[in-house]
Amino acid sequence: MKLMLLFFLMLSAAMTACQAETPSRPTVKSTSMQNASHPSNPYYSRTDTTKLELPDTVWKKVLPPELYPVARQGATEPAFTGKYWDYEGIGTYFCAACGNSLFRSDAKFASTCGWPSFFETVRPGSVVYRKDTSFGMARTEVLCGRCGAHLGHLFDDGPPPTGKRFCMNSISLEFEPDHPETKKPQ
Ligand SMILES: [Zn+2]
Repeated sequence: MKLMLLFFLMLSAAMTACQAETPSRPTVKSTSMQNASHPSNPYYSRTDTTKLELPDTVWKKVLPPELYPVARQGATEPAFTGKYWDYEGIGTYFCAACGNSLFRSDAKFASTCGWPSFFETVRPGSVVYRKDTSFGMARTEVLCGRCGAHLGHLFDDGPPPTGKRFCMNSISLEFEPDHPETKKPQ
């Protein structure tokens, strides 16, 4: 009888050890650290460049309420109110809706228009264009090349070398500094 007890004790000890060695269930691998800061937006990724074609009903659920009207309905934030129009940090600007990389800070220039302005995109295809004739004006609308979010407009009065001015809404952008200690605008 004593032997049986010993056997059971050994068996349970072995099982416990076995359980301890069982690898924990694989968790869904996050594609980037930034995903953690967008818990309500499963489409956000700074590494995945797959085009997103989602209905506005989905975007309405996953985007912050203040971003939705600009990103999906083409609204424009008032001049001089966004957090990036006069910001000079060194780093990269990403689409706030999907994480697609859009502009480098070295293509940003001091513009008096009240919106963050850039003379070129980070790579061809990072944005797409659409003719915009709203408000009786013929303008070129700039949209995110990955998710189609409205970013702003493109004008031909920018500085060299391109002569272009990508006039963007701050709220459509997310800045990530090259150096983590860089102070981000509030
Ligand atoms: Zn996007």
